[in-house]
Amino acid sequence: MIKFLDLQKINLQYKEEIEAKLLEVFRSGWYLMGGQLSKFEENFNHYTGCSHSIGVANGLDALRLILRAYIELGVMNKGDEIIVPANTYIASILAISDNGLVPVLVEPDLNNYNIDISKIEEKITSKTKGILIVHLYGRIIFSETLQQLAQKHSLKIIEDNAQAIGAEWNGSKSGNLGDAAGFSFYPGKNLGALGDAGAVTTNDENLAKTIRALANYGSNQKYVNLYQGLNSRLDEIQAAVLDVKLKYIDQENDIRRNIAKRYISEISNPKIILPESPENEKEHVWHVFIIRAENREALQAYLTDKGIQTLIHYPIPPHRQHAYKEWNEMSFPISEKIHQEVLSLPISPVMSDEEVQEVIRAVNTF
Ligand SMILES: *Cc1c(COP(=O)(O)O)cnc(C)c1O
Repeated sequence: MIKFLDLQKINLQYKEEIEAKLLEVFRSGWYLMGGQLSKFEENFNHYTGCSHSIGVANGLDALRLILRAYIELGVMNKGDEIIVPANTYIASILAISDNGLVPVLVEPDLNNYNIDISKIEEKITSKTKGILIVHLYGRIIFSETLQQLAQKHSLKIIEDNAQAIGAEWNGSKSGNLGDAAGFSFYPGKNLGALGDAGAVTTNDENLAKTIRALANYGSNQKYVNLYQGLNSRLDEIQAAVLDVKLKYIDQENDIRRNIAKRYISEISNPKIILPESPENEKEHVWHVFIIRAENREALQAYLTDKGIQTLIHYPIPPHRQHAYKEWNEMSFPISEKIHQEVLSLPISPVMSDEEVQEVIRAVNTF
């Protein structure tokens, strides 16, 4: 069987290095807020080009903390609106509503599955304070038009960079394009920990300081609490493992790019709509490889029968979830079409050429 993502195989690539780190942390007797975290944060600054990295417990917390810090700093107030793509993974939206902010959904572009920048301005009101862009499926969404729009309306650009670590726009890494970014190191992400983990990056020193305090019970100094904070920390074990894997992320992303290239050039079934690749290949790190088919369920069953595991990212749009039942009657036809037709093919840094070949053959014979 061809697994959608073989996490065991991915992590065993670095068996010696990771096992040595696990043992080192175990034996050190120091498990939180120590040298492994500060070393990873320093290397993460270097990698992303940002001046501040803050390790946190997971990707959702990273986004929640950014918005919460903007509220504490008086940049945003409860009831303010944040623009977000209608077809994102629900965590982006949860981070907004959890802070008492109002998510304003905008349709994606059917060609690249990212927010349609041309549809943002019509949604801006006097309450809009930010745009949460999501580099969905690993593809960067950014442009000078977006920058100018944010500037014109004094909006913060926050990147949900859970899926696009290592992607680049105009020579800058994702996570260093807007005002602040949230990363997820969930095991299945391109840079995955051995459990939950996340990070915030920013070049805004004041914001970084506020997030650091918020993630630590609202405190920058032991037993002195500035804010009603939370506990959201990246532990030493995860930091040490991520620090090992960070060295290999560019090479792993390149393998994903090569697989994507093969899929795009060799899948020739007219029933399949392939993803568009960006002009500059650096803008995509292929966290998932999305195809569309009108008869998606039949295609998935066919591939399962051929021993190929696929997933759907995502089957139900956020506005159709019970969690946001007040939106259930709203209509986002492009987003709904995407949710009905997408299917994710296996793509990973440990897939063999033969496995890639097998996926191509199976999709072409459907
Ligand atoms: C994974 C993901 C998150 C949440 O990250 P967790 O670490 O699972 O909390 C947020 N946004 C997007 C787009 C994601 O893919």
